[in-house]
Amino acid sequence: MRELYADIIIDISHEKLDRPFQYRVPQALTGKLETGMCVAVPFGAGNRLRKGYIIGLGDVCKYDPERTKEIEGIVRGESVVEERQIALAAWIRKNYGSTMIQALKTVLPARQTVKKLERRTIRRLLGREEILSLLGESRRKKQVAKERLLEEMAGQETIPYEWVTGKLGVSAQTVNGLERAGVLRVESSLSFRNPVKVQSGQEKEKILSKAQGQVVEEVLSDFDGGHPGTYLLHGITGSGKTEVYIRLVQGIVKRGRQAVVLIPEIALTYQTLLRFYRCFGERVSVLNSALSAGEKYDQCQRAKNGEIDVIIGPRSALFTPFPDIGLIVMDEEHEGSYKSESSPKYHAREVAGEVARLHGASVVLGSATPSLEAYYRARSGIYKLFTLGERLTGGSLPKVYIEDLRRELQEGNRSIFSRRLQTLLAERLERGEQVILFLNRRGYAGFVSCRACGHVMKCPHCDVSLSEHRGGRLLCHYCGYSEPKPAHCPGCGSPYISGFKAGTQQIEEKLKEMYPGVRTLRMDGDTTRTKGSYEQILAAFGNREADVLIGTQMIVKGHDFPGVTLVGVLAADLSLGVGDYRAGERTFQLLTQAVGRAGRGDLPGEAVIQTYQPEHYAVTYAAAQDYGGFYSEEILFREMMGYPPAAHMMAVQVFASKEEKGAQLASYLASLTGRAFGIQILGPAPAAIGKVNDIFRFVFYVKSPEYDKLIRIKDCVEGKIQDLQLSGETVQFDFDPMNTL
Ligand code: ADP
Ligand code: ZN
Ligand code: ZN
Repeated sequence: MRELYADIIIDISHEKLDRPFQYRVPQALTGKLETGMCVAVPFGAGNRLRKGYIIGLGDVCKYDPERTKEIEGIVRGESVVEERQIALAAWIRKNYGSTMIQALKTVLPARQTVKKLERRTIRRLLGREEILSLLGESRRKKQVAKERLLEEMAGQETIPYEWVTGKLGVSAQTVNGLERAGVLRVESSLSFRNPVKVQSGQEKEKILSKAQGQVVEEVLSDFDGGHPGTYLLHGITGSGKTEVYIRLVQGIVKRGRQAVVLIPEIALTYQTLLRFYRCFGERVSVLNSALSAGEKYDQCQRAKNGEIDVIIGPRSALFTPFPDIGLIVMDEEHEGSYKSESSPKYHAREVAGEVARLHGASVVLGSATPSLEAYYRARSGIYKLFTLGERLTGGSLPKVYIEDLRRELQEGNRSIFSRRLQTLLAERLERGEQVILFLNRRGYAGFVSCRACGHVMKCPHCDVSLSEHRGGRLLCHYCGYSEPKPAHCPGCGSPYISGFKAGTQQIEEKLKEMYPGVRTLRMDGDTTRTKGSYEQILAAFGNREADVLIGTQMIVKGHDFPGVTLVGVLAADLSLGVGDYRAGERTFQLLTQAVGRAGRGDLPGEAVIQTYQPEHYAVTYAAAQDYGGFYSEEILFREMMGYPPAAHMMAVQVFASKEEKGAQLASYLASLTGRAFGIQILGPAPAAIGKVNDIFRFVFYVKSPEYDKLIRIKDCVEGKIQDLQLSGETVQFDFDPMNTL
């Protein structure tokens, strides 16, 4: 009888153990083991039992057969990992750099027992007609919250309670009042299945526009012809992208395959979800951060058992263990949340491509402001490009004013509001219309610029903004270049050179000073720390409980406020000054989205963009809502500087509790890499956020036109780290980074 051996990855995240170990399969287990199973094995000198995953089986012993240990047994209840998922984990490990265990854990659902949660549902007790008449009444009385609830209830018999109080922003008192009046009943049930239950088949079939029909037809005919492709759907909000996704998913499900729909959580609105539920009923499931680990695991089991056809969720929904995926949709593909921030730092767009390859599936990316990556590939013919032109629901694009803050200063206006913005604001407040004030601050922005001429202090080598650091030095986070902070502007000699400091709170105070009695709401990292507060603020604003909403980028995504007729961007420079090569792209996206917030209802909208750099192309093209124009300029900059997508870039990040040791390791690895590959290294430099929780961070960058070369460099660095006896320092990789760490 021939012996059988298994290659096993031990469940310990440690670089030194990140390779398969071979074990003998005992007689008793012959025929019972499969790739992907979780087994218990004796490990190390003490032969302690550890969990491990089988990644391969064979009859060749690669080591000394005498000393090869035996598998102890199968770990019951662990999910059987399909080979495809192991292949995916291996791909992630290779392309993004992490241990195999980290990659496996990314791909596999964490097994958790499901706690049954109490779910409350609102059931309507009256017929549709009666609800509609109540609806008319509350419209007349301007009871906006009640109106929204009744509107929903006219559409369906039951609504989940948490949707009502959450996304719909209806208070418990309103619900209780309606219950007392006999309009509805709050029911409670123990369930752990679909968080939302709606009957299917309620969605009326729309007749697709010509442009929509063309997309659906082409994607499906490529699929049927055995050439599933990747498609980029470029269209502004309201141009009918979601409708296209729904039709495509229907088509794929009819063909007996499953679909994954990725939506950044922040953009996942109740309306969108309902549309999917109405089409797919119990066969669709949603993954979101409100689910417990147990509930998430339960959804995975349902997918595996063929109980659902469609999953909607954030990037991790890509790992849903469907047997046969036919379509992956990625809405708002340019969103930063598609990139994982912890190791392995994968990008959902690229992983979607690999999942699609493994399953033979199509990929559809959608955005109003596509990432440079996606558009670049569409231009080079790797993706097929479709453009959806018009907004299907009407509403015109707003009139946009670019206000030059340099001139405001010259002409004696020292306020944070330009004169134009002040005039328009006053007009709105008088007319009882709503205003959004947008502070496009993104993460860390310590850049320094001149208020008189707009000059920004930039790195002469990397063409990104320098950041101000302790001791008044300016630092480049790519290459480490530094210079003292000047007292006078090198451009015009004025003394008005400084960092930009303004928070939402300060703006709120100024606003109240200038317009006494103005009702404001504020939304930023501070006001939305507690769960659900984000929705509450948006709902309150939607209910017209405030005149002005002041906030950071979270306010410009996904939500429609028909009462808003003015959007003010307080300083476009805030996102332009972030010291990384995507600053222009992000600014363009944010400004385009912000401007698009005005005038969604019946009234026409206006937008004001305040900036010290009114001639910057990200500002002017956003004001004109001209994506093509922006792309042509931005890609030239990327090509000239060798930044993605024109080339590839890898960040090597060193974390250390002792500053000196971190700096030493970073410069050792950087110089070693430079020598071994004859390649130019940027840095090392302290990371943008140089210390977090007492851990110091250093980073260096490697650029290359070939991704594979970066993988080889990563492998080499990994090898070095294994040889070094590191005492607590760790190294992570970030390919084509989205954020300067
Ligand atoms: P996007 O996802 O691009 O924002 P949606 O698919 O949500 O666009 O469409 C915007 C609005 O237009 C929605 O209210 C939708 O119901 C409606 N709509 C989409 N396609 C059609 C169509 N072919 N006919 C009529 N209405 C449509
Ligand atoms: Zn100046
Ligand atoms: Zn630099």
